[in-house]
Amino acid sequence: MHYADAQRPVRPGQFGSGGALFLDRDGVINVDRGYVHRISEFQFVQGVFDLTRFWILEVQRPIVVISNQSGIGRGYFDEEEYADLTQWMCRRFAAEGSPIARVYHCPSHPQHGIGRYRRDDPWRKPAPGMILQAAADLNLDLAYSVIVGDKLSDMEAGARAGVGLRILVRNGASEPGSGPSDHETAADLTRVLALLRRHFAAGSIDPQ
Ligand SMILES: [Mg+2]
Repeated sequence: MHYADAQRPVRPGQFGSGGALFLDRDGVINVDRGYVHRISEFQFVQGVFDLTRFWILEVQRPIVVISNQSGIGRGYFDEEEYADLTQWMCRRFAAEGSPIARVYHCPSHPQHGIGRYRRDDPWRKPAPGMILQAAADLNLDLAYSVIVGDKLSDMEAGARAGVGLRILVRNGASEPGSGPSDHETAADLTRVLALLRRHFAAGSIDPQ
């Protein structure tokens, strides 16, 4: 955890203003078992609804899911199966009091995609395309947005899009490579929520 730096990315008084919470899916919302595409395989990560309810109730800004889904391009499952699972997932978030505003996915893969899915896609993370599209669709201020992901490619996509606060959550995965980084790191979603509360508390104090 880099709590010492917790005030760094977002200016006090502005946190959440015009922003969104961007969530990666596999490894953040659900346990990453590899190409999850059935409800029976979809296990929500502990703490995810506490995190999303905090964002909806206290920050009162949209939640956006951005997910590489090369399993579609690789032919492991199809767009219809993905859409069915996504609709079910969104109903669960709504039932938990934290509706998802938009879900973006990228089915392509530059080497392993089949047919039209084999391409360099500007939506595939670490490219920032999905985030930039969401910003255009929802009129977001990315500097005051947050991204939570479990891979460095999520952090890179966030950085390239100009997302102000980027949080890498490990969720039991092995330690990422050490060295200087320009993102926060959290062990699990409970720690992510604590980090957001800290930023939000700092931002909610208005000296005027
Ligand atoms: Mg992931």
